[in-house]
Amino acid sequence: MLDRYINLLKSGEVVAFPTETVYGLGADAKNPDAVKKVFEIKGRPSDNPLIVHISDKKQAKYFALEISDDAHKLMDAFWPGPLTLIFKKKPQVLDIITAGLDTVALRWPKHPLSQQLIALAGPVVAPSANSSGKPSPTKAEHVKEDFGDDFPVVDASETEIGLESTVLDISSEPYTIYRPGAVSADEITKIIGKEVIQDSGSSKDETAKSPGTKYSHYSPEAKVQWISSGDTTFVDEALYLLHSRPAPRKSDRVIHYEGNFNKMAHELYDRFRHADHQNLEFVFVEPFSSEQLQNPIVQALQNRITKAIG
Ligand code: AMP
Ligand code: MG
Repeated sequence: MLDRYINLLKSGEVVAFPTETVYGLGADAKNPDAVKKVFEIKGRPSDNPLIVHISDKKQAKYFALEISDDAHKLMDAFWPGPLTLIFKKKPQVLDIITAGLDTVALRWPKHPLSQQLIALAGPVVAPSANSSGKPSPTKAEHVKEDFGDDFPVVDASETEIGLESTVLDISSEPYTIYRPGAVSADEITKIIGKEVIQDSGSSKDETAKSPGTKYSHYSPEAKVQWISSGDTTFVDEALYLLHSRPAPRKSDRVIHYEGNFNKMAHELYDRFRHADHQNLEFVFVEPFSSEQLQNPIVQALQNRITKAIG
């Protein structure tokens, strides 16, 4: 089933495929013309580096200058899985991938189809398979919405997690999280016995280190807003995403997650896209309590929703 996609990748073409986080837009990580196509198709600014996806630990050696003891521990604990690690790069890593930085981001995804594809076609760069600025795709149909019905997509229905990987910079200490995801700071600290800094792009310094964090991501055309605490009015032209407070009425525009934050993460981008299909003006989201924000997936939700609000 994958033969066609493997051949496309090997001949320098771009192919979308599922990972456990979101669909990725893959291209051969050793072919500069193929990598260039990824930037062109997405409309991605060239100063926003790409994550290289690999299918075993050994492949990391081609890209990472040095793999420290901490790196080995993290790879053994979380790979394959939703953790991207940033290393100092080897000179042979294409500059177009790293946007001229001296570091490279690596991840070994867990989805079996992504593993097979990479094992047979070789390491691929794979940003999320959406047009720049749109919410990341969690279904093959989202990819086709952005890139057309004929675009080659390995279709494997919905992605499991629904939010992008945790991005952790281990190229210098203290280690820093640039993007929260399903793997949390606490879990990382447990493995390496070191505190990590959480910075998701609010300071100028971190923006310079992880350029992608400065771009508005994840946002629908509809305006995303937090519901203010005393507000009990519900309007018709809006989608409401609730998780804890009572729902005012049954409506397909009032979605209640009943504390199931994994489901909320799984569906968030699809809900955003749906709001746009219906030409809704607003998406209102119930804010999270500090207790709920202890949960890593809630931290990731908070990060994406805050960015969507802009
Ligand atoms: P996406 O491709 O949409 O999943 O986004 C990838 C994220 O990883 C962006 O925020 C990039 O800025 C970040 N990233 C990729 N490579 C690096 C790197 N070498 N250093 C810092 N951040 C990186
Ligand atoms: Mg993206």
